Amino acid sequence: MPEISMIQKYADYLEILNKKLDSYFEDQKEFIKCKAGCSLCCKSSYYPYSQLEYDYFRIGFNKNFNEKQREEINKKALQIFKDRKIFLKTNSNVFDFHYECPFLVNDSCGNYQHRGLLCRSHGLIYKDVDKPKHNAPHCMTLGYNYSDIYDPETKQFSEEKAVQLGFKARPQVYELSYSSIMKDAGEDFEFGDVRMLFEWVVMDIPNYEELIKSNP
Ligand code: SF4
Repeated sequence: MPEISMIQKYADYLEILNKKLDSYFEDQKEFIKCKAGCSLCCKSSYYPYSQLEYDYFRIGFNKNFNEKQREEINKKALQIFKDRKIFLKTNSNVFDFHYECPFLVNDSCGNYQHRGLLCRSHGLIYKDVDKPKHNAPHCMTLGYNYSDIYDPETKQFSEEKAVQLGFKARPQVYELSYSSIMKDAGEDFEFGDVRMLFEWVVMDIPNYEELIKSNP
């Protein structure tokens, strides 16, 4: 029997993960305000992608975008590359550099079916690795997910508020850190290096090293 490729295994895992996330979003739906056209979470972050996630993402990139659109995305990714270079002249923490995802088209993901792991789980509260605190989505403070039960004093969501306001659901903290989502895929998964999404795009551009050198 032919061996199943790693990409196929990853696609199979995504089906399992999607089902799990659907059930989590369903359970938390009273607190969730995600809807089509809301793209806050795609406008300012760093979007880590492993090699395997990007290999799968690239399939959609090549299929869903024509040559002209791909060139536009490549240009955006190169611009982000340059912006980060300037940012790093005065900031030492690379993770403080946030950018708008180059795949955001008219406030929607242009590569939705092939998006990465964290793009899928974003919006829920999850347990941070090795930290006592949990991570709620940033939009909680901006009137979106979990904002109804946000307590500005503690800067956290409040279970008591959920009770007071008569919500049937209670806010849940899920095991959805990046590393735990990867670990759940199984031991034989090879996710490979992790880079910011725009870096993978830039590295896919033929002669990208020369382009970067000639456009400092
Ligand atoms: S890949 Fe899609 S879902 Fe992920 S950040 Fe970019 S636009 Fe948003």
